[in-house]
Amino acid sequence: MQISAEQQSQLKQIPGVDLLLELLKQDSYFDPVPNTVKLNAIRLVVANLRDQILKTPANISSDSFAETTLLSEVKRLVASDMTPNLRRVINATGIVVHTNLGRSLLADKVVENLAMIARRYSNLEYDLAKGKRGSRYSSVEGLLCELTGAEAALAVNNNAGAVLLSLETIARDRKVIVSRGELVEIGGSFRVPDVMAKSGGILREVGTTNRTHLRDYENAIESDTALLLKVHRSNYSVVGFTAEVPLKELVALGNRRQIPVMEDLGSGTFIDFSQYGLMKEPTVRDSIAAGPDVVTFSGDKLLGGPQAGIIVGKKHWLDRIKQNPIARALRIDKLTLAALEGTLRLYRDPADAIASIPTLRLLTQPKSMIDRNADQLYQALKQMDTAKIEVERVESISKSGGGSLPLLDLPTTCIRVKVAQISANAIEKMMRRYDPPVIGRIEDDSFLLDIRTVQEDEISTIVTAFQKLLQEIVP
Ligand SMILES: *Cc1c(COP(=O)(O)O)cnc(C)c1O
Repeated sequence: MQISAEQQSQLKQIPGVDLLLELLKQDSYFDPVPNTVKLNAIRLVVANLRDQILKTPANISSDSFAETTLLSEVKRLVASDMTPNLRRVINATGIVVHTNLGRSLLADKVVENLAMIARRYSNLEYDLAKGKRGSRYSSVEGLLCELTGAEAALAVNNNAGAVLLSLETIARDRKVIVSRGELVEIGGSFRVPDVMAKSGGILREVGTTNRTHLRDYENAIESDTALLLKVHRSNYSVVGFTAEVPLKELVALGNRRQIPVMEDLGSGTFIDFSQYGLMKEPTVRDSIAAGPDVVTFSGDKLLGGPQAGIIVGKKHWLDRIKQNPIARALRIDKLTLAALEGTLRLYRDPADAIASIPTLRLLTQPKSMIDRNADQLYQALKQMDTAKIEVERVESISKSGGGSLPLLDLPTTCIRVKVAQISANAIEKMMRRYDPPVIGRIEDDSFLLDIRTVQEDEISTIVTAFQKLLQEIVP
């Protein structure tokens, strides 16, 4: 590449890294910033300027070399580098158990105890009564048995792990009978046939996509059949001409033929949602009452706790599962354990659980409450420059999410926002880049904020985000 004399003189004008580093000392903003972060930002700014001189000299002006220009660019890079990668966002999608946005929020009481366990030593694996080594799992096993009616219980890293571990323990190198209609894929690449293969279990599909009968299971039983497995469809449903075998009948067949029965509930709930005007979803207790050997479910879907996989069932099988070396590889962390125990304790009083576990509160909150919050946001946005922004309240539907209750439509209120001169996609992007990011949804070419999942104290933040957006767009 040919470099002109002008370019050569421009390259010489680029301030040195050491000089810029000295200049940063005059701005107290940079005091708490680690040296490596400052250096990385300075080097990047210098390299960008060099690149511009060489590649797009037309964009270079005397201003490009000004200290204020360079320092503000360094500041922008440092600010972005100092922002944690994992950070809070405002969920205005209306999807309560949103897998991409962290699924479930912990109850305040749970977080307090969690913070204490994180900061201090704990009796994680120490039996305080006996003064010797104890079991990590004892803090939740009793509660899980109490809440589900199971004989024994174990919590592991997540439900995918719970399923893998259970299958490996019960069915490695032997056959597992599953209905074709239940070979589901859950978001984030959990697929029943794949997990089965990794567990060493041999999949024996029976029935058809829409109909599976007891005789299908029965006819498929062979000498090396290790397990009858039922999988909750979670994120889809089969409607119309359908048939599936209730867990109870599968258990009866298993008892007759001496084959264990397992149910992967996926979401798993301790609350009968039909009492709150939502659709009936069998509880974990209902499943256990049907008598299967093992039931697995997630800690952070409808349960509203931390990410975890919970295995409940017959003591005979749980003892074997606990001894499987894979259980050690999937073991639950102490912070998760603290959060899980705290959440389970809230379920001892279902009214308390509904009121304090955010997932349950957001799913069951009355429409009138959503309306009240929506109105607050609506009124605040209405105050803004009407030539630039147009707001409207719209009736809509929120979803439960997280592979749970796929057919459940929750009536909600959304705020539709239109901004003069810019597209819904542009609004969505600007809101997503705000700090904290506000995640809404786009429907019919307009930007919607679903108020079901917006907490009351987040409304003023959303208002400020729109004020900033209006300032940024061309007047
Ligand atoms: C969600 C789900 C899983 C996976 O659970 P994670 O807790 O996300 O690991 C497994 N099986 C079913 C049926 C599910 O719905």
